[in-house]
Amino acid sequence: SAKKVGRGQYRFFDQSLNLKDVEEFHLEQSFSEALRNREFVLHYQPQVCLDSMEIIGYEALVRWQHPEFGLLFPDRFIPVAENSGFVIPLGLEVLRLACAQIAQWQVEGISAQPVAVNVSPIQLTQAEFCRQVLEMISEYDLKTDQLELEITETAMLDANAVESLHCLKAAGVKLSLDDFGTGYSGFAHLDAVPVDKLKIDRSLIAKICNSHDDSPIVSSTIILAKRMQLKVVAEGVETRDQLVHLKVAGCDIAQGYHLSRPMPPADLPDFLRAFTGQLKEYQPLMELFG
Ligand code: C2E
Ligand code: MG
Ligand code: MG
Ligand code: MG
Repeated sequence: SAKKVGRGQYRFFDQSLNLKDVEEFHLEQSFSEALRNREFVLHYQPQVCLDSMEIIGYEALVRWQHPEFGLLFPDRFIPVAENSGFVIPLGLEVLRLACAQIAQWQVEGISAQPVAVNVSPIQLTQAEFCRQVLEMISEYDLKTDQLELEITETAMLDANAVESLHCLKAAGVKLSLDDFGTGYSGFAHLDAVPVDKLKIDRSLIAKICNSHDDSPIVSSTIILAKRMQLKVVAEGVETRDQLVHLKVAGCDIAQGYHLSRPMPPADLPDFLRAFTGQLKEYQPLMELFG
């Protein structure tokens, strides 16, 4: 029976099956075909060194160019992919796309910077994950330090995942702990896992307004991370004030809309030309707080 759920919208399904379930079911059904049709693409967001104000790397962020729904963002389909197990083949596709892009940028002389790829804890629990990553790196003739992996706290709680991380680290792949400061993340598990970088979640960065000491959590996190020899990345930097605050607090690297939105690779050459000019504006600022 059709039930009116809003103006002009009808729900043709049983009460127990809500619209979100239906959408997720639909997405799940089209995953394999999407992979065959190469509907997954990566957008790249620059990471900027706060000492030199140069781009020192990119984070690869997956999008799904869906034939019916348009460009879908990962929050919409990664959880579905994780629940269905599809995140494993999807994760390999993402790694392949990133490696191919690194190789292509290198050949074209556009960028030689490392690219960071997000990996789901489910991928890390696979015994063959480390080997697959290393094979992919050599298939594209890359060095292990051209690829970084971003992991989340949940990965540190699983023994198999921790083993994968040690294997990757031993091979020279850099590891970043993503979304630090959310959920249960803290310094407690950092001893067990060989991470190189800590990415402070954007919910904490958003609390930095315009006074220079209004975010003791961010400042203390930076100090603690440095004591542990970790590089600190701030994500979600949206304003110049936040950038200055982070610089003063000793943060190493910034990423966010204030510097650049994630972009399709085709936009990178134009972006790089514009960014180099835009940077001159920051030089005196950085010297002031350097
Ligand atoms: P994340 O790894 O923490 O990525 C950062 C997210 O913040 C990205 O959202 C990015 O577009 C967004 N962002 C960057 N700068 C700003 C800013 O200044 N302001 C605001 N408001 N947002 C900003 P996106 O691309 O929607 O990705 C969301 C999450 O999906 C990622 O969070 C990551 O956990 C996951 N993800 C993305 N790509 C992949 C992937 O290939 N595999 C897996 N397993 N997860 C992925
Ligand atoms: Mg990330
Ligand atoms: Mg993050
Ligand atoms: Mg996040």
